[in-house]
Amino acid sequence: MTTDLNAGRSPLDLESPHSIPVTATATPGGEAPDVDTGPLAYARAQLSDAIAVLDLDQGVYSMLANPRREMTVSIPLRRDNGDVEVLTGHRVQHNVSRGPGKGGLRYSKDVTLDEVRALAMWMTWKCALVDVPYGGAKGGVRFDPKRYSREEVQRVTRRYTSEIIPIIGPTQDIPAPDIGTDEQVMAWMMDTYSASQGYTVLGVTTGKPLALGGSLGRPTATSLGVAHVALAALSHLRRRPTATAAAVQGFGKVGRGAARYLWEAGVKVVAVSDEYGAIFNAGGLSVPDLEAYVATSGTVLGFDDSEDLNDRDALLYLEVDLLIPAAIEGVLHGENADRVHASLIVEGANGPTTPAADEIFRANGQLVVPDILANAGGVIVSYFEWVQANQAYWWSQTDVENRLRERMERAWHRVLEYAATHRVSLRLAATVLAVDTVTTAHLTRGLYP
Ligand code: NAD
Repeated sequence: MTTDLNAGRSPLDLESPHSIPVTATATPGGEAPDVDTGPLAYARAQLSDAIAVLDLDQGVYSMLANPRREMTVSIPLRRDNGDVEVLTGHRVQHNVSRGPGKGGLRYSKDVTLDEVRALAMWMTWKCALVDVPYGGAKGGVRFDPKRYSREEVQRVTRRYTSEIIPIIGPTQDIPAPDIGTDEQVMAWMMDTYSASQGYTVLGVTTGKPLALGGSLGRPTATSLGVAHVALAALSHLRRRPTATAAAVQGFGKVGRGAARYLWEAGVKVVAVSDEYGAIFNAGGLSVPDLEAYVATSGTVLGFDDSEDLNDRDALLYLEVDLLIPAAIEGVLHGENADRVHASLIVEGANGPTTPAADEIFRANGQLVVPDILANAGGVIVSYFEWVQANQAYWWSQTDVENRLRERMERAWHRVLEYAATHRVSLRLAATVLAVDTVTTAHLTRGLYP
């Protein structure tokens, strides 16, 4: 399989996100600018590649390179000690042509508006690729929740939610968990939104606790989906799971479950990392024991029967067959991709591979399963949760997991077939399929007025 990442890139377009120009300043097919400069630049470069393959015009690029709507809010927070701090939050709706915006809410000290814009764009492609009837959106608040009490996190959540109420709702934009947020945060958001409406609105968030209209299988859906495509890709490469060594970067909601499902399938998980460091055992880690350990320790470091790799990024360069980046964006880039040995990289995280790294992996014959396919299990089961909440009728875990597997496998085969037929990378194939779907919806609706 070959990759065509030489298609021209568009210069970054600085037009206002609120005005959707029909004349683009971008030049797909033109000279490639330096694209290795941040998630929004990577996302726009990927879009530009897809626009070139689809032979769409510049106006379409401009419409899709810019978010449809965005909101930035100040969040005054009274700390437990009485001090007042003002945090900044964002909600970006990239495209809503196919349905309400859908996307996670991130709490991290590294949140920026450009990062949220990129994540919202990737959500648009992901929803289109796996055929759930949503557009793409994302939210973020710039703070580290681990440095705040649970009560403070609740106050941040409720104030952020009340500020963005005008643009969210079950038919407008439906948040879900992401880095630093969880089902309790979704419950607080749902309660705050419901209080403003005067009645309970279960469908305003997904990834909620079961007691509040959550879906069986949602907490593990992203991880299970990552494992499904990782195993499908191993089979495509004619490699047995039991003959595969894997490293997983990030041991949060996505990485932990992905490691567990792969371990259950017989894959030898030799290394995992989190923000504090990385651990290694050449004979394989016992993932269930590690999960139990992390539940009390809060980190993978210090786990029995493992050695500390000292540098958390050393995990990326181990002699493994399968690498699952499941933490943050931009970890595989032009400066380090050459040091990655894994022949298969499955993106549990959003945006872990920059375009420069993609080119290096292509040149080295390494297969990358892109985020918008690999981690789509979360939004698929979020869709199932929303459907269940709207119908007030809940499915069994088996129903949820069977439907998830069926959708993931269908998306995997569709992307693989396109990539093989057109001799392009899986990322370009997935993006082209998604952009085509979104553009068709967008243009069929027409420009208003
Ligand atoms: P999380 O907050 O539950 O976990 C993040 C993990 O990454 C933690 O273990 C943290 O310690 C670790 N980490 C942070 N920086 C790191 C670094 N530099 N090196 C190694 N580890 C590091 O977040 P999550 O929900 O698991 O999300 C992880 C990624 O998956 C993000 O890119 C997110 O956007 C994406 N994603 C999440 C979901 C979901 O349903 N939660 C769905 C699709 C995609």
